[in-house]
Amino acid sequence: MKIETRSVYHFLNHCQTLYNIGPEDRVSNFSEVSFDFSVLDLWLTWYARASLHVVPESQLMAPARFIQEHKLTFWASVPSVILFLDRLKHLKEGCFPTLRVSYFCGEALPLSSALLWGRAAPNCVIDNHYGPTEATVGCSLERLTDPPNLTPGRDILSIGRPYSGMRMAIVGEQGIFLPQGETGELALSGPQITQGYLGDDELTSRRLPVLDHPSLGRLRWYLTGDLSFEDASGTFHHMGRIDNQVKVLGHRIELEELDAHLRQVCKCESVVMVAWPIRNGSAEGVVAFVCATGITTGQILDGLKKRLPPYALPREIIEIESMPMTPNGKIDRKALLNILAGRMQGSGI
Ligand code: AMP
Repeated sequence: MKIETRSVYHFLNHCQTLYNIGPEDRVSNFSEVSFDFSVLDLWLTWYARASLHVVPESQLMAPARFIQEHKLTFWASVPSVILFLDRLKHLKEGCFPTLRVSYFCGEALPLSSALLWGRAAPNCVIDNHYGPTEATVGCSLERLTDPPNLTPGRDILSIGRPYSGMRMAIVGEQGIFLPQGETGELALSGPQITQGYLGDDELTSRRLPVLDHPSLGRLRWYLTGDLSFEDASGTFHHMGRIDNQVKVLGHRIELEELDAHLRQVCKCESVVMVAWPIRNGSAEGVVAFVCATGITTGQILDGLKKRLPPYALPREIIEIESMPMTPNGKIDRKALLNILAGRMQGSGI
């Protein structure tokens, strides 16, 4: 994907205007360099001459002591970290007094998580940023306020309003822009949008079409694949995905891509991956279902390990007699999720 320097500059400039990071700030580096999030940590720190504190791999799932020992003032991560810390009972009231900014992005921020973080970091603004890599890390913001601005029926913070200079709009069938209140695909435009996918002109023109907006005229838009609507106040709400893209601990995964690897390893069509378990709207992992493959689950896992990063490996491989199918002949992922949910209830978890 081609992201221009001017897009990164626009993003960093916006964040710097928002947070006024200075040499006295102590910034976390939570994400590895292959994750676009690191553009924020690394470049904002250097841009503002602050200090950067790289969270060691051993503390990524439980960085509480790291935040305290390094007296961090700026924290940036995916929201899942809050759940890990809460499970370990590491989020004691007032335990992060030095934090003044928390930048959460990459997946939905549940209200319960935002409140837990706010209790632990009482001197801190808690910001829910939204953005795909194609729009240079983040491009809209909702700050935790009292009362909070929530997405109806989802108990997550809204994704707020676009950064200055960026545009958000809702697109329906055939690229028609929809009015406030109607749910459709979220489209983004402005200086942070990618120039396209390297070597894939077809994908570039499909995901980045030039569309006629009723008041903005002809502009290039990035079609995000996110379902959203704009409420009467101009705030946007994230309502899930149109496709089978999921976030596993903040990492973007296309389930169809995993299915393709699973099919190749199993040499069999009757296999599928589902995101599971889902807690607070975010996936913690994936589970594979396979049917009549003729090889053992150990062999399947070994084959997948050669092709996929650790976060995309199935936590479990379940062999079933026949795949449930939808009326139009697709493997029915929902029915498989129901099997997992039923098992969980049965075990009283
Ligand atoms: P990535 O390109 O890895 O940053 O993933 C982008 C996708 O993550 C978006 O298209 C959304 O589906 C999801 N996402 C990012 N930030 C948020 C957020 N604050 N709330 C809900 N979903 C989010």
